This record gives sequence, structure tokens and C-alpha cells, in this order.
Amino acid sequence: MTQIKRSDLSHAPVCVTCGTQYAGVERMTDCPICRDERQYVGWQGQRWTTTAEIAAGHEIRFDDAAGVTTMALEPGFAIGQRAFLIPGEGGPGGRMVMWECLPAVTEAAVQHIAGLGGVQAIAISHPHFYSAMLEWSEALGGVPIYLHEADEDWVASDSPFLRFWDGEHFALSPNIDLVHLPGHFAGSSGLLWKNGPRPGGSLFPGDAIQIAMDRRFASFMYSYPNAIPLGRKALARLKAHVDPLAFADLYGSFAGKQMIGDAKERVEASFERYRKALEA
Ligand SMILES: [Zn+2]
Ligand SMILES: [Zn+2]
Repeated sequence: MTQIKRSDLSHAPVCVTCGTQYAGVERMTDCPICRDERQYVGWQGQRWTTTAEIAAGHEIRFDDAAGVTTMALEPGFAIGQRAFLIPGEGGPGGRMVMWECLPAVTEAAVQHIAGLGGVQAIAISHPHFYSAMLEWSEALGGVPIYLHEADEDWVASDSPFLRFWDGEHFALSPNIDLVHLPGHFAGSSGLLWKNGPRPGGSLFPGDAIQIAMDRRFASFMYSYPNAIPLGRKALARLKAHVDPLAFADLYGSFAGKQMIGDAKERVEASFERYRKALEA
């Protein structure tokens, strides 16, 4: 892995299709994330930009999604995921956890986050959302970035801010656990906010659980853009990881995708629907 230099970051190559920044790299030819069968090379061929260029043409919009602060690039860019600001143990106004990441950093967004109390750590579900994580860490004051170690090979640049956790469960703070949800990636993980924003708990599953368009069901795919389903064994393994988790709300990777109040039952019904589809 390359050791990054801070001054490199806003001009480091960022893949236009997936939004991954290759910090500390002068020039890239192709993007390993997009070459993988879970993603795809853009139809115009591999193209590169920088966070400086993205920030010049986009803003970071903050929204409230059923009681949780979200951040997303506007207009949309690359995969188009949202990131979340989860209050730390101090509650609203305390230092937050940034769950997931975005492909560009703007000064306005950094200022806005500081005004909300700042961020104590970044945690990310899987490599599709690593985005500009090292630049974000530095912009937020050199905060640690928590990733599951099973996906360590997907990390392009070494950094003193990276923290790899292993196993099934990692207590990030008294109210926030990182939980292993393997399937989409070997190290796919979720964030479980045990006491908020409502009683019952909220699960942020990244792409391990994808809320369907009807928002009543979810699905579980190895690749979403290339429509490669999880097989029977992978589904059973993922279900065994989800079953012990207590949550009433589920917040998906994209704007508007949340299940509030009865998410656990809906996810259970979704596993059952998927299992029946595999047998049909
Ligand atoms: Zn890419
Ligand atoms: Zn993904």
C-alpha cells in the first residue's frame, strides 16, 4: 500500500463511476473496484476526476431522514449513496460518528459538521463506500476510520487513521455497535444504533440489506448493478448474523430508503420471500 501525503489528497484520482479516491497515487489506469464483478466500468470507459473538481461542481446537502442527519452530494455523483451522522454517547450536540462516506469533501460541509458538534470517528460498511475516506478523516481533524479487516485488501492507500476490526461485533461506543453482515462483501458490516432515534434500535446495513422500491421488503445481492443474487448458503449465513440484532428501524444506502417501526419483521419476511424464490 502507498503511504499518503496530505497535500496529495484533493488532487488524487477519483473514479467517476464508483467515487473511490486513490490517495497518494499519481496516476491510475483502471479502478479495481469497478473491474470487480460487483461493479462495472462506466460506459464511456474508465474516467477519473479529483475531489477538488467534484467540490467545484457539487454541494453536500444535509437532510433529516426520519430523525437521522444524512449527507449526500448534489447533484448526485457516482454510486450516489448517502452518509449518516449518528450522535455519540453525549446525544445530540456530542461528537458524532460518520457512517459511510462521500466522494468529495467541501469546506462548507466540514464547517456544518463542526457546528453540529464534530465527528469522533468514521465507519464504513464496505469498499463501495470507501469514497474519499482519508481526505474526510483529515478534514475532520484526523479521526479514525473503522473498516472490517476482511476487506483490507480493497484499501488502496495506507494511513495512520485506518483501524481494522475483526470478528462479528465491535463496540464503537456505548450506544453504537459495528456488526458483521457478510455476503455482498466478505467484510460487509452494519452500524447498530442501540437507542435512537426511537426506542427499539436502528440498523444501518450498507449494501448488505437493500431496501426495495416498495419499502416494504428488502433484498440481498452479491451485485446490485449486475444482478448477481446471493446464493442459498450466503443467504443463510447473512440471516444468522441479522437474527440476533434488535432493531425497529432500518436505514438503507439511498435517499428515501428507510423502514420505520417494523423493520425487523419486514427483513424477516424478506429473507423468507428470498428463500422461497431460490426454491421456486
Ligand atoms: Zn471505480
Ligand atoms: Zn456495494
